[in-house]
Amino acid sequence: MSLLELEGVDAYYGASQALFGLDLAVEQNEVVALLGRNGAGKTTTLRTITGTVGRREGHIEYDGEDISGLSVEAISNRGVKLVPEDRRIFPTLTVRENLLIARDACKGTDPRPIEEMYEVFPKLEELNQSLGQNLSGGEQQMLSVARALIQSPDLLLLDEPTEGLAPVIVEDLSEVLHEVVSQDVTVIITEQNVEFALELSERAYIIQKGSNAWEGSIEELRANEGLLDQYLSVGGGEEGTEGEAAGDD
Ligand code: ATP
Repeated sequence: MSLLELEGVDAYYGASQALFGLDLAVEQNEVVALLGRNGAGKTTTLRTITGTVGRREGHIEYDGEDISGLSVEAISNRGVKLVPEDRRIFPTLTVRENLLIARDACKGTDPRPIEEMYEVFPKLEELNQSLGQNLSGGEQQMLSVARALIQSPDLLLLDEPTEGLAPVIVEDLSEVLHEVVSQDVTVIITEQNVEFALELSERAYIIQKGSNAWEGSIEELRANEGLLDQYLSVGGGEEGTEGEAAGDD
């Protein structure tokens, strides 16, 4: 049985539909990449899993339980943690305080000691007393991942972790995330930076206009260059404008 199973899932922002009968299955301890162009529905898929999308329909099962009707909090308490694209660091709190708040807010799973986070992210220990607002983009991303990890997630959702980061910082992040995925955690990662995601993952799903376009192993994807060109090539522009009218976020 898969840890997470989506079958025929639709998602809506107000009246506009963003996902159309999406299927997705993720096994325990797997690392799965969700790929697709801008606006394809990657973030919406993650928000459908965490329950923050406006409306979702279809079958969503996590750890053998139907979670399609559960609240955001109830889903989080079951060990599903999102690292959002915009990071949401508390700017006027220190690194340590940001981590402590995440630790203390943890329900449903046993939080990990802050020292373990510093072992994975030594840079954060150095920055212990720095304010969130004084961190670089890369440091904020590390903190954002650490805030999710301190809550001992069973399923970690990483939404475009490399967004806006300089290439040298992306390398650091890659190293840290390789360490993270080697631990006992299941991961779904969305990325525009395809190579970054492929290096980390075992399987991939390609989403196009809110629907499944392709799924398979990373080896298959690499062996089939046409796929990347067809579905992910840059310069294809924004996808479907059908979802942009409602704007009820
Ligand atoms: P990106 O890489 O740009 O984040 P994505 O693949 O994550 O792209 P989504 O953000 O999931 O794509 O967007 C899927 C569709 O839903 C798009 O058409 C988008 O315009 C629409 N959409 C996303 N968020 C909202 C919202 N809050 N209100 C209305 N429509 C939305």
